[in-house]
Amino acid sequence: MIALESTSLWQFVEQAKRANCSRCGFCLAVCPTYKLTGLEVQSPRGRIALIDAVARGDLAPGPGFREHMYHCLFCQACETVCPSGVKIGRAVVTARAILEKEHEASLPQRLALRWLLPYPRRLELAATVLRLYQRLGLRRLVRRSGLMRGRLRQMEELLPPLPTRPLRRELPEVIAAKGPVRHRVGFFLGCFMSLVYADASRASIEVLTENGCEVVVPKAQRCCGAPHLADGDRTALEALARRNVDAFGEVDFIVSDCAACSATLKDYADVLSGDSAYAARAEAVSRKARDITEFLAGLPLRPPKGEVRRAVSYHAPCHLIHSQGISEAPRMLLRAVPGLELREMRESDWCCGSAGAYGLTHPERSAQLLERKMANVEAAGARVVATANPGCMLELRLGAERRGDGVEVMHVTQLLAESYRREREHP
Ligand code: SF4
Ligand code: SF4
Repeated sequence: MIALESTSLWQFVEQAKRANCSRCGFCLAVCPTYKLTGLEVQSPRGRIALIDAVARGDLAPGPGFREHMYHCLFCQACETVCPSGVKIGRAVVTARAILEKEHEASLPQRLALRWLLPYPRRLELAATVLRLYQRLGLRRLVRRSGLMRGRLRQMEELLPPLPTRPLRRELPEVIAAKGPVRHRVGFFLGCFMSLVYADASRASIEVLTENGCEVVVPKAQRCCGAPHLADGDRTALEALARRNVDAFGEVDFIVSDCAACSATLKDYADVLSGDSAYAARAEAVSRKARDITEFLAGLPLRPPKGEVRRAVSYHAPCHLIHSQGISEAPRMLLRAVPGLELREMRESDWCCGSAGAYGLTHPERSAQLLERKMANVEAAGARVVATANPGCMLELRLGAERRGDGVEVMHVTQLLAESYRREREHP
């Protein structure tokens, strides 16, 4: 039996009670898992009631309870609309942390979270092996052979062609601004951005330098800890937060083009609030942290002049809209691109099904959400989906590939960079 009284879940439940869940049901309309199943236990209100029942001792935290906690996407859409400020998603993640203490994580999970993600060189080595697998034609062979099934097949399918070199290896520590320096910006390069979406982060840095930013990319930075937070591994999250606080020195802002990373950096003040040696510096990191869309939209942006004639729809990552409350900034940037036609899709703020490792742990549910998203993209008549998070980019790319409709997936900054580039080519 889990000793709930000795954990912070108890505090969360107390918070939830203080916030006074009125059972109004506003959260039901935005919860993807409730919309898909129609089950109260798969709704935010239902999950809070389950956690409350466990905390009171009326319900044993058995397999059923565990299932409902892990079915949650942690998209935080419920938190955005809750009039009483109940932090449902966070309560669910805390419940997971307690459950994880009781259940040893699976070997692949342990390997990924503890032995790979915190160590950039190991991650890069793993990426090299995968790159060889893709380049040597093994991928086609393995797919044809039918050897790969289940979760492994899902993981393999998700992976786009990997760049030749991780961006982390390529970037100098300081990149000069074009023209007079307006800001000295620390760039937080997410693991996936470096290993998979190097082109997108290259574009982000290009847009920053175009806008008078001297960009500092500390070599000592590590994974932000977002996957550990979602999985309830608080110890690893704190260790990574300390490494990153040490890595970023004198900069005006710390900017990331990965919404999960920018959201997690903003949480460092809270994560390290109990550590007297780090609390003040962690608070400074959180204060300076910005998502790149938020940062650029807050500048007097140098208007891009090159025409980009594309029909684009915007998918709002949960880590941007629900964790950080940023909705208008990316749209503002897209509207600033001459020739670009922004076509809003229905449910743009719905989770795409990525949700960390959700596509691997709940493949069917994730596929349903992805299909719904891609149908909304098609209905909007868009040929490009722009977004701002590598997890969403991976998932949307998979959706486009499955449909075979040629829809491109791009980061918002890639469209801005394309415009600046065209401006240079055709002044
Ligand atoms: S919106 Fe908030 S107050 Fe209303 S039922 Fe959901 S959790 Fe409770
Ligand atoms: S975090 Fe998302 S999936 Fe989980 S209860 Fe809230 S709205 Fe539903």
